[in-house]
Amino acid sequence: MSQNEGFEYQSVVVLKGVGPAVASRLEKLGIYTVQDVLLHLPLRYEDRTKVVPVGALQAGQQVVVEGIIEHSEVRYTRRRGGWGKAKSGSGRALLCYLSDGTGGIILRFFYFNNRQQQDLSAGTRVRCFGEIRHGANSLEITHPEYQKLAENQLLPLTDSLTPVYPKSEGVHQALLRNLAKQVIAGLKENALPEWLPESLLNDKKYPGISEALRLVHQPETDVSLKSIEAVKHPAQKRLIFEELLAYRLSMMRFRQKSKTNKAISINVKDNTISEFIGSLGFELTSAQKKVSQKIISDLKSDSPMMRLLQGDVGSGKTVVAACATLAVTGYSGQAAIMAPTEILASQLFENFSRWFERFSGNKCLLLTGKDKGKKRLAKLKAIKQGEVSIIVGTHALFQNDVEFKNLLLIVVDEQHRFGVHQRMALREKGLHGDVVPHQLIMTATPIPRSLAMTAYADLDYSVIDELPAGRKKVSTVVISDQRRNEVIARVAQACRQGEQAYWVCTLVEESEVLQCQAAEDSAVQLSQEFRDLNIGLVHGRMKQDEKDAIVEKFKAGDINLLVATTVIEVGVDIPNASLMIIENAERLGLSQLHQLRGRVGRGEKQSACVLMYAAPLSERAKQRLSILRENDSGFVIAQKDLEMRGAGEVLGTRQTGIVGMRIADVLRDEYMLEDVKLAALEIQKNYPERITHLINRWLGKSEQYGSV
Ligand code: ADP
Ligand code: MG
Repeated sequence: MSQNEGFEYQSVVVLKGVGPAVASRLEKLGIYTVQDVLLHLPLRYEDRTKVVPVGALQAGQQVVVEGIIEHSEVRYTRRRGGWGKAKSGSGRALLCYLSDGTGGIILRFFYFNNRQQQDLSAGTRVRCFGEIRHGANSLEITHPEYQKLAENQLLPLTDSLTPVYPKSEGVHQALLRNLAKQVIAGLKENALPEWLPESLLNDKKYPGISEALRLVHQPETDVSLKSIEAVKHPAQKRLIFEELLAYRLSMMRFRQKSKTNKAISINVKDNTISEFIGSLGFELTSAQKKVSQKIISDLKSDSPMMRLLQGDVGSGKTVVAACATLAVTGYSGQAAIMAPTEILASQLFENFSRWFERFSGNKCLLLTGKDKGKKRLAKLKAIKQGEVSIIVGTHALFQNDVEFKNLLLIVVDEQHRFGVHQRMALREKGLHGDVVPHQLIMTATPIPRSLAMTAYADLDYSVIDELPAGRKKVSTVVISDQRRNEVIARVAQACRQGEQAYWVCTLVEESEVLQCQAAEDSAVQLSQEFRDLNIGLVHGRMKQDEKDAIVEKFKAGDINLLVATTVIEVGVDIPNASLMIIENAERLGLSQLHQLRGRVGRGEKQSACVLMYAAPLSERAKQRLSILRENDSGFVIAQKDLEMRGAGEVLGTRQTGIVGMRIADVLRDEYMLEDVKLAALEIQKNYPERITHLINRWLGKSEQYGSV
């Protein structure tokens, strides 16, 4: 890289190994510029700086081991977890017995070719890296990375911890590591400009921006992995601080801009709403009533409603959104309702169509990424000409060519799945001069006031703090996967008695493919074992039509047991389902588990949730899962989870992932927010020219194009 002012904004194509094809794949990760490479931060680290003697290994560690293969063989085994021969060949495994004089360990490969088999024959010296697990009789590594070593060959080890980056299709770790390395090396000549005030850096003993980034990408071995994993290292704190500051400044700017905005004031006839509620077949909870009334009064104002509605899973936010929608359509306006996934959008569409059929004249329309060509054009026309008044959809709603006739209300469901700025982009759609639509944002993520202050500074805040009457607490048990067969038998029995169940295979961030495979295997195995039951499968790599069709069947009761990856997590509402099994529950964040569990216990039936973990489980992990067993409020769970966090936690499990944030987690980093607020004011006063730089650095394209 050449010395160049503003080099950080250069396209990634200036880096070695990046051509147009790679560049476009990097875009999927939000990486456009050299600076974006720097801000694409590691999820966690691997310690490949030392070789660990086999005799000293402990399950759960990720380590480098080195030794001689004493014996290797192909065995026909049952898969770990006991799924047996789900797919042809999958019951075959290559086992290599590795020893280094201090002890022995098994390398286990489920996928291997002849060459690998030969490579790993007896007498070979290898260095491997992988996660140590308990096998039946000894420790094992499944699918280690490995390298053959010549006799007496000494291979150098790395001298800094190895970063593991969030990756996506077609963008491998090796590439991301290489790019980061290049840019970090370039920082020596081209330090990034410092936008934090010097006094602040001094006060807090934060390192400068370039040093902080170098340290986070390439921590030396003497840097405490514990402090880094707890996200408490000064280098990380500095980056978090700056990101929160950028968000705060961006929000202040939006708020400034929107001060001049006006909205259409909507006077709702009270009996319209009460008639609607009367038609639902249930009473609103008093929290629902209170919030609906608040919204109706917001809508009467001629300044735009900007309300954030937080309510735990199952608290009934959708009905409240329907009340707001009804108010607007009664005024011959349009309402746009946006959901993060197609499954959720079609579910909302169904609810709204069903509810509003009784109130003639209000036509609903569903617009998603599935709509293409003529069909899409026809829908766009209907929206533009005002033939439909309720438009439900995914982010397809805020594409450029979608024009509304008279958009008066925007509802965004499950906000945490959207970037803050996607919401802003949708608002632009309804813009007529200074007049903008009213907005209602709904989320099940527990949001402390302080968070609302930073990420949602432009919003008023309401909460539904009560569940509909008659709900029974979901009884939750924590069980080792060694008892998996018992669990399977119980599920089958329940299904035979007319219950419906979810079986969730958890998704490891870095390997969607493997998880989808696991879900497929599970589905196949369960169908073979229980031929009398209908078993469905949904996962993220299936086509949308297929997914929808399966969820529909489950809803209709034609499927007894739905095997799924975590795609089922948010919002899916099938009141008859009463049993939820979550495999490898220890891999997920507690809030995510709470969301998943919220898929059952939606009707009046007593429901159950089984959290199955891969044994053995650390004491801490057991404690975490028991938080879930003992609590049923998302707010309490998030709070306790946070208290328990600390050293050893995986960096990537965000609880309140505001989509687009790179390192900050507003719940975890809440303690900084007060100082961030003060710093924002200082920047505004003393360094106003830095505001744009800070926002561009952290929000970049997302702020410009609303495409987080
Ligand atoms: P969430 O807040 O998680 O989006 P939903 O709006 O999907 O929750 O509501 C969950 C379920 O509870 C739905 O089946 C809905 O029809 C039902 N429901 C909502 N409000 C009430 C109520 N006051 N009494 C009984 N059932 C309700
Ligand atoms: Mg919902």
